[in-house]
Amino acid sequence: MAQDYPIGTPGEKWDDTNKQQWLAQQEKQRDYANDVIRRIDHLREQFDVETYGELIYDDKTFPLFVVRSRNWRVNNPTVLVTGGVHGYETSGVHGALYFLETEAVNHLSRFNILVAPCISPWGYETINRWNPDAVDPNRSFVSDSRAQECELIMTYLDKHQINPDVHIDLHETTDTDNSEFRPAKAARDGTTNTNWNIPDGFYLVADKQRSEPGFQRAIIETVKPVTHIAPADDEGCLIGAPMVQEGVIEYEAKPLGLCMGMTDARFVTTTEVYPDSANTNSVECVDAQVAAVRGALEYAAKEL
Ligand SMILES: [Zn+2]
Repeated sequence: MAQDYPIGTPGEKWDDTNKQQWLAQQEKQRDYANDVIRRIDHLREQFDVETYGELIYDDKTFPLFVVRSRNWRVNNPTVLVTGGVHGYETSGVHGALYFLETEAVNHLSRFNILVAPCISPWGYETINRWNPDAVDPNRSFVSDSRAQECELIMTYLDKHQINPDVHIDLHETTDTDNSEFRPAKAARDGTTNTNWNIPDGFYLVADKQRSEPGFQRAIIETVKPVTHIAPADDEGCLIGAPMVQEGVIEYEAKPLGLCMGMTDARFVTTTEVYPDSANTNSVECVDAQVAAVRGALEYAAKEL
């Protein structure tokens, strides 16, 4: 059998040595303090900023932040926006920040807003899907999580008894999913990788248990003028899942340990933009993320 990935033995799960080999290859490529914390600091005049913990990896420590509405009203619905669960998915992080810098003010009278712009700063800096333990945070929103990234934000929400009505988790689907991350996952798990076609355009992953088709449709319609929506492949699918309406597929959020499954919010979705498309650019991807949150809030405001 052909070996897709340079670490490990085909058909065998990685041991700790393999994981160390993988970790040794990862390098810092951008700066969380400069790109994220600096922008969060500028928000302190308008919002409350709290540290909800620290990620500690050997000699490196990353403070973790939430940004929240200053006038928290118990009778208002609460929206949670999460970015950077997958740290390499740049527009998720920058979209969450840009939402706070621009659009959030329009919704403060109607919603309590809570944003965790960068759940996985190590992944942000090293442009990685996994954390340093070769664990995917977006499969680890479960009790007794093996990922600090997940445990810390779940503990924060629990401690402050924050039960969002709306949760939007901002992601990207990239060409490196097929060139790096899916082969790495198959190698780690001792399985064979089969790539799927990366959808060209924006799409949503809804929770099968809380599908809310009108909510998903409203987001797609709001994003459409900003960037193109991904068409289904020849099998009527996006990343192997049947498209249930334009630009929408469904996953089982809680059993899979997805971030969008960490709360019982009525309205939940995961955004996916495709930054490697010839028909988009990094600015447009960030704008699409902000449009998605706006579409979600405008719809939810009518329903809640
Ligand atoms: Zn992702």
